[in-house]
Formats: sequence, structure tokens, C-alpha cells
Amino acid sequence: MYLEDIWSKTKDIMKNSGHIDKIVYDTYFNDSFLKDLSEEKAVIVVPTHLQKIILQKELGFIVSSLYEVLSKKVDCDIYLENEYNHRQKRVNPVLINDENLECTDGVLPFYTFDNFVVGPSNKESHSAALACAYNPGKFYNPLFIFGNSGLGKTHLLNAIGNYVKKNHPDKKVIYTSGSDFVQRVFASFRNESPGSIEDFKAEIRNVDILLMDDIQFLAGKNKSHEIFFHLFNELVNNRRQIVLTSDRHPTEINGLEERLISRFYSGLSVGVDSPEFETSLAILRKKMENHSVDPELIDEDVLSYIATNFSKDVRQLEGHLNRLIFYSINFSSNQHIDFKTAMNAFKDQGVNIDKNELSVNKIKRVVVDYYGLTKQQLISKSRTKNIANARHIAMYLCRKHLDLPFNKIGEEFGKRDHSTVMSSCEKVEKQCQMDEIFLLAIREIEKSLI
Ligand code: ADP
Ligand code: MG
Repeated sequence: MYLEDIWSKTKDIMKNSGHIDKIVYDTYFNDSFLKDLSEEKAVIVVPTHLQKIILQKELGFIVSSLYEVLSKKVDCDIYLENEYNHRQKRVNPVLINDENLECTDGVLPFYTFDNFVVGPSNKESHSAALACAYNPGKFYNPLFIFGNSGLGKTHLLNAIGNYVKKNHPDKKVIYTSGSDFVQRVFASFRNESPGSIEDFKAEIRNVDILLMDDIQFLAGKNKSHEIFFHLFNELVNNRRQIVLTSDRHPTEINGLEERLISRFYSGLSVGVDSPEFETSLAILRKKMENHSVDPELIDEDVLSYIATNFSKDVRQLEGHLNRLIFYSINFSSNQHIDFKTAMNAFKDQGVNIDKNELSVNKIKRVVVDYYGLTKQQLISKSRTKNIANARHIAMYLCRKHLDLPFNKIGEEFGKRDHSTVMSSCEKVEKQCQMDEIFLLAIREIEKSLI
């Protein structure tokens, strides 16, 4: 397979993953190229500095998308075109064995025990996870890890998978999630790919370690629940390791049957909590190290500020750190980040828009232009992801820049009620806080409103 094909498949995966917004994909990812690929490294080239930063921020996502195509982990380097040309490296089309194209086990390669920071908030779950990885099926079966979103459950689950793959290469691991499981069951019943329900069950029965994320999605899905219950019993009886995660304690998952919950008690349930200050600091430092950021870039009191204020959810810690790194490279003449610079980076850097010149119609037009939609679609009942997304953003912009009441905005967008508009605006606001790239996309749209 040639580089172009590999990259085109990878781009399709990134585009359709739902991980990044369409506008972000179109603006920053679409005109990137895979220039070189060796056993361990992929070289990706982009036209602008901003794209380089953004792709670097999404390196993990790019590595995992490439992994889906290549079935092996390769690190990625991102270069500007002229930087790359200076390297004068020989560029060769690479042929990849087509057998490798299917990613079969689902384990995400970049979540490992090595880059998981252990502290009092996650000590138990880390230790239990490592025990399961070290000696699968022998200690706790099932292991059930529960806790709020963003506290490292998915990370730990994949760390088990990566550890087992490295240290027990003969053992078969599968990482899946409650929602994937439900979809697979659904697709198998409708006889869509991949294969019938019997093939699907046989595949699961065959594993030595089943890693199932977000089991709460099975709640209320009777068919999937039933199938899972029987598979679960078979696996445990055959001493195969099962590790499950959920956003709450098993007894609090409404819609899971008692008989399944009671089976969970045969193993061990451990919770993950929000990291304390020291752990948050260590996570920030680890993330800087992972992104090859100079440890001197950010002042100690700035890291302390982030660790003190945003440690409820590790994603938020990461989001704030990323924002600083981004800000130091793009907006600050002095690259070093002291407290004052950090506060500037965190305060909303809104684009100055003249309210007198702005109208709901203009916002609608700019948003539909960006998303390649029609105004009709924007105010329609459609819940298609990119249409709904564009609608949320347009409503948010009306609220932010025109300061219209929610019900008035609702009228403008297909007679939606007050609470729908409010929740759309909250959604966008929340994502702006957590996701620097999304925020940038909003800024791009706002620039067109001037
Ligand atoms: P959950 O599945 O609990 O919602 P994730 O495992 O997806 O959370 O974690 C969210 C982000 O936070 C990931 O990028 C993950 O690497 C990071 N993270 C969470 N806890 C830790 C930790 N203890 N050390 C390093 N990174 C962590
Ligand atoms: Mg998760």
C-alpha cells in the first residue's frame, strides 16, 4: 500500500471518529500529507505553523488512527513543509502487508502503566489493574473499576491490554466498550458485518482477557445484557480475566440485572477519585514530558494554579496545560509562561465583534458556510451530528454576541424551547473550556462575523 492510500484511510478514520469537529478536520488536518513511513516512525507534513501545533496536540489521536490502518504502533513526527525539505530525507512509497490492516484487539497503544501517574486517589485501582495484567485470571475476577469521567479508567484498562500484549504475547486480549458491544450484537442480529451472533460470541469466548469499558451502556439493552451475562459466566468459569469499568458503582447502574450485579461481587470493585494536588502536579509534569515540552516552560506557581483549580477531571488538567503550551507558542512574544501570561491565556480571548453590525441571520449564514450546510438544515429537526453541532454553535454565538434570551433564540432555530437552547449553549461553553482546538474553531467562525 502506498503512503497516499495509508494516509487517506487514516484521514477517513480521523474525520469520522467524532473525536474532532468537522471544521477542525477541514481546516487543519485535511491538507496534511504522510511523507515517510518506516518501521517505527511516520513523518507527517503540514503547510502552516498553526497546523503543526494542532496536529502535535492530537498526536495520540493520530497515532491511534494510524494504528487502525497499520495494525502496529508507529510514532509520528509533524513537520512544516520547509522544515521537512531541509531534512532532505529520501521519500519512498511503502508497501504494507494487507494482512496487517485490520486492528483486531482494539487496545489503544498510548495508554500504558508507564505513563499513568499513581497517587492516593488511584492507588488501589492501579494496583489491582496491574495485578490482573501481571497474572491474568488469578487474582480478582472480575475486576470492576468505577469512578467519574476523566479519572483514568480507560487509561488503566488499555494499560492492562498493553502490558499483557507485551509480557504474555500468547494471551488473546480484546478491548471493547459497552456501546461497541451493544452495536456488535445489534449488527450481528441484523446480519450485518462482522458475522453472525455465533461468530461474535465465539470471538469473545476465545479471549484470555476481556477489557470492557463503560459497562453502564448495557443497562436496559436486554439482548446485549443477556448475551453478556452468559459470556461473562463462561469466561469467569474458565478462569479468563475480565476487567470492567463504569462511571458508577455496579449497584447504582439502573437497568443492570441483579444476577449480573451479584456476579460482579465475586471479584473486586475499586473506585478512582479525583487526583489530589500532588498527583495533579505529577500528571501535569508527565503530560509535559509526553509532549516533549521543556519542563522550564511553565512556572511552578502556574502549574500549582492549574492543579488546585482543575483537578476534578484529568481531562481538564490536560486541557488547561495544552492551552498554555498553545498560547506560549502562538500569542506570547516571550515563550516562557509566568503567572501573568497564564492568566492572559486563560481569560477568554474573545474576538471583538461590533454588535450593531451583527444579526441572527448573519450568524446563521457564517455557520452554514463553515459547515457546508443550508439554513434550512440549520433550523431543521435533524439530529445528524454535524448539523446538530453547527446548530449548537450558532445558538451559542447568538447568545454570546447578541445577548438574546434563550426563548427568542429558540424561535429563530426551528421553534426550539428555552431549555434546549440553554443546554446547547452550555454544551458549547463546556467544550470550549476543555478543548483548545474546538475553541480555535469557534474563534475562526467568530472572525468571519466581524
Ligand atoms: P475515564 O475513562 O475515567 O473517563 P480516561 O482514562 O479517558 O478517563 O482519562 C482521561 C485523560 O486523563 C486521558 O488522557 C488519560 O491519559 C488522563 N489521565 C487520567 N488519569 C491519569 C493518570 N493518573 N496519569 C496520567 N494520565 C491520566
Ligand atoms: Mg473512559
